[in-house]
Amino acid sequence: MATILDGRVVARSTLMSLRSRIDALPRAPGIAVVRVGEDPASKVYVGRKTARAERLGFKHEEVHLSDDTSQGELEAVIDRLNDADWVDGILLQLPLPPDLDSTALLDRIDPAKDVDGFHPENVGLLSQGRARFVPCTPAGVMRMFDEMDIPLEGKHAVVIGRSNIVGRPMAMLLEKANATVTLAHSRTKDLPALTRTADIVVAAVGRPHFVQGDWISAGTVVIDVGINRLDDGSLVGDVDTGSASENAEWITPVPGGVGPMTIAMLMANTVTAAELRTR
Ligand code: NDP
Repeated sequence: MATILDGRVVARSTLMSLRSRIDALPRAPGIAVVRVGEDPASKVYVGRKTARAERLGFKHEEVHLSDDTSQGELEAVIDRLNDADWVDGILLQLPLPPDLDSTALLDRIDPAKDVDGFHPENVGLLSQGRARFVPCTPAGVMRMFDEMDIPLEGKHAVVIGRSNIVGRPMAMLLEKANATVTLAHSRTKDLPALTRTADIVVAAVGRPHFVQGDWISAGTVVIDVGINRLDDGSLVGDVDTGSASENAEWITPVPGGVGPMTIAMLMANTVTAAELRTR
């Protein structure tokens, strides 16, 4: 039976390790979170992020705009936050309403304040192995491996999903840690056969219970990034945790696995931004 990799515990120690860095700053770190529309999941995520920032003593602002906000209005908000000296980190909560061009808006965020790590400058630095801001979810997964002393060197990692937010940066980070990485996606042939050869499986697909227990070989580390809400309101991951736990050595639960790490790493990136901007 797999050991549960508890993201809440690792997130707590990650946040505690920020205390001395925050205290060493000449002023409190500042974070601004921009939310557009009434997407219920976005509202919950933004609420959690600002609550955590508040508890750490950050200065923070939530900008909430209506569904019919224009591209120009949102650009003006980003420009204001880029210019505000107290703001170290800007987070544009995705997804945006379909009429807005999210790529152009993410590109407009000052790369020195891009604590989500989505700006092409930061993606480029990450791909060259000299990261400044690593996207929070894959950064959180790496932190879990580190805290739990899970070896990566020489291991075969299969990452399922190639989004810019999770899968692709996850693959880059694992490769940098000397794992041998296969990046799988919707066109990958015979995915179960592939995952059975893996030492590490990271599922970032967005389909409930997609990865089945018989896809997982004995001793595998299974990281479930997925967050899917079922019709009954419950939250489940991309992995069928019950059956996958029978063979896996480690497995992350949903909720309480990768999710808390994402928020912890956002706070860590904001502290890094404040350090870089105030030194
Ligand atoms: P995207 O929808 O952007 O990407 C999904 C990826 O899954 C795509 O690369 C897609 O392939 C791939 N995929 C879809 N269907 C299949 C299939 N049948 N077989 C193999 N691959 C498939 O999602 P995100 O990366 O943004 O998010 C993934 C999940 O992680 C979601 O559940 C999301 O809610 C969750 N999430 C959780 C976070 C956390 O904090 N825990 C943070 C961010 C996301 P293709 O490219 O070919 O279309």
